[in-house]
Amino acid sequence: MSVLELARPELLALKPYSSARLEAGRAQVMLNANESPEPAFEGDELALNRYPDPQPAALLEQLARAFGVAPAQIYVGRGSDEAIDLLTRAFCRAGQDAVLISPPTFGMYAVAAGVQGAAVVSVPLDAGRDFALDADAVIAAARANPVKLVYVCSPNNPTGGAVPRAVILRIVEALAGRCLVVVDEAYGEYADQPSLADALGSHPNLVVLRTLSKAFGLAGARVGVLLAAPEIIGLMRRIMAPYPLPTPSVAAALRAFAPDATAARVARIARTRAERARIAAALAALPGVRRVWPSDANFLVFRVDGAGAVWRRLADAGVLIRDVSHYLGLSDVLRVSIGLPEENDRFLAALADALRAAA
Ligand SMILES: *Cc1c(COP(=O)(O)O)cnc(C)c1O
Repeated sequence: MSVLELARPELLALKPYSSARLEAGRAQVMLNANESPEPAFEGDELALNRYPDPQPAALLEQLARAFGVAPAQIYVGRGSDEAIDLLTRAFCRAGQDAVLISPPTFGMYAVAAGVQGAAVVSVPLDAGRDFALDADAVIAAARANPVKLVYVCSPNNPTGGAVPRAVILRIVEALAGRCLVVVDEAYGEYADQPSLADALGSHPNLVVLRTLSKAFGLAGARVGVLLAAPEIIGLMRRIMAPYPLPTPSVAAALRAFAPDATAARVARIARTRAERARIAAALAALPGVRRVWPSDANFLVFRVDGAGAVWRRLADAGVLIRDVSHYLGLSDVLRVSIGLPEENDRFLAALADALRAAA
């Protein structure tokens, strides 16, 4: 069977919008898109008076090289958030289908399901095993419910751990022909484990999400990447917004793949990983910190007594971290992103003060 048999049947029959830029690329005289023939201001080097290429070939080629796939296996859009939304709308029939999540996890999976009218089936992570994914329970719940999308966030936000590759592949294989397994690798660059992208060719129900928002340092440009079988990419392109990627974002993304930026990124990731180890050790040694979890991402989660009050004292001291204690199983847990060494030092000093004041 084709993996497209899992998609909403009415979408396969839908005639997609055909934008002017999709119908024809650039010509000498461009009078087909009702654009302004003149730029908005002097020195507009990006020709912002023109609509952008919906899926720019140069960017697809860079991403294909970076993630080890073919351009036909890539949809690039406005952040992973848009990819999650498109997947949900493409595969879940409102009032009938469901997505499966393993909380505590990234909130957008359930929000996108809610917007589409899809149910959410929850199989919690195992709090007794550092929030490990319960693969057998995921497979059983996906089979027992009308689940179309199974989300595996690896490394997981907000708990920080990666799911072993063999565990993910076991889920993908057990659910072949039944569900898409969406592996969100937003923090993949900070992990030891390689991407699942190399398994796409042999597993048509596997989808991998990547983003330029974290390790690439482009959160403001909003560029997210969906890697999947070419049929799924074709479906994404049929239902995407006419021009999902603003021209300045495409330019910034291409700039981030230049040799100097690539070298800087590699060094930045190494510094972040070293700082992660340093802060984890410092946290574990602080009186009042009850627990620090291992992290494969660019953040750490730790438990204190009275997390809400500790968060407030840090905020009052000008240090903003995230209170994640409302997530399932994360009572009194705080999440801190790894910053510059001096920012991390300020965080550790402010936390030590806050814990002393609370004691
Ligand atoms: C930050 C993050 C993303 C990235 O979202 P963008 O829309 O690409 O900025 C995706 N998934 C998870 C789990 C995240 O934490």
